[in-house]
Amino acid sequence: MFDINKLLRENIKTLVPYSSARDEFKGKADVFLDANENSIGSPLAKNYNRYPDPLQWKIKYKLAEIKGVPPQNIFIGNGSDECIDILYRGFCNPGKDNVIICPPTYGMYEVSANINDVEVRKARLTDDFQLDLIHLENLVDENTKIIWICSPNNPTGNSFNREDIETVLNNFEGIVVIDEAYINFSRQKSFIQELTEYPNLVVMQTLSKAWGLAALRLGMSFASEEIIEVYNKIKPPYNISQAAQELVAEALENVEQVNGFIKELVQSREELIKELAQLPVVKKIYPSDANFLLVKVIDARAIYEYLLAKAIVVRDRSKVELCEGCLRITVGTKKENRELIESLKTFIV
Ligand SMILES: *Cc1c(COP(=O)(O)O)cnc(C)c1O
Repeated sequence: MFDINKLLRENIKTLVPYSSARDEFKGKADVFLDANENSIGSPLAKNYNRYPDPLQWKIKYKLAEIKGVPPQNIFIGNGSDECIDILYRGFCNPGKDNVIICPPTYGMYEVSANINDVEVRKARLTDDFQLDLIHLENLVDENTKIIWICSPNNPTGNSFNREDIETVLNNFEGIVVIDEAYINFSRQKSFIQELTEYPNLVVMQTLSKAWGLAALRLGMSFASEEIIEVYNKIKPPYNISQAAQELVAEALENVEQVNGFIKELVQSREELIKELAQLPVVKKIYPSDANFLLVKVIDARAIYEYLLAKAIVVRDRSKVELCEGCLRITVGTKKENRELIESLKTFIV
């Protein structure tokens, strides 16, 4: 049985969070002398002399509508990085607890663990890039607090079998994070509607990919209210700036445009696969549910350098276990994809 109190760090359980001026005052007022702001104004127009809403309710209500999840089940972080880091600080005792990752996968789970002095155990994916449930289960002990699952996975691009993820959710009593940064490009269904089913589930998404807002730094965690409370207790009081909140609120009005981006990128991905498949330098293109392709080539380092000389930068993943000889290529604009293909055509095998 999932029991959040068995998972939480003692110092977080007993933590009295910082109470900001914006938290303590609720009601109506005209004169704000409670937060030591500059009451006269700011060099910018608007209300930038005032501290922003600590809990970003305006954005959460819009996200709630878009995602079909109540606003109190949403945490907004300064990028997914903050969503990741807060889970370590809330649940993992440094030098004692451990988490499990399934490599090859997103690097931040491990870096953030190292920063927080938390042991990382690795259940390598199978050769066809699926979860190895037996290996995973063998790594779990009484100090395992989090299992990180990235689906669609970076850098492999595929989604994991839904039944495998459900098996983990049903059998592990710690937190299961499903990072859905690329879910918009996927044929697979999101787990975001399953929050009431699984009290141990955290779904992460981001505005950095399909939404085209990487510069604003906005990551999201969707979870039970008790897990969201942990997030809110630990986060810096004003983790999302007023500028970001306003711009995101504006962006969230444009769901149709984003759906257009997704459609175009998925279509370009399929075209890119066809074009790449005809090139002599390409040995294998892995199936992708994301906005990038993992491509095995004849000489990854040489091709990486060759493209760089042509001012095209891709990600060299050839030293990553199970990705030997591979480049990770983001789907670009139609023009960029054409440039990439033309460049690869002139590489002398
Ligand atoms: C790009 C990416 C993110 C997004 O990170 P942000 O900090 O929100 O920009 C999250 N997870 C994975 C696996 C990614 O590849």
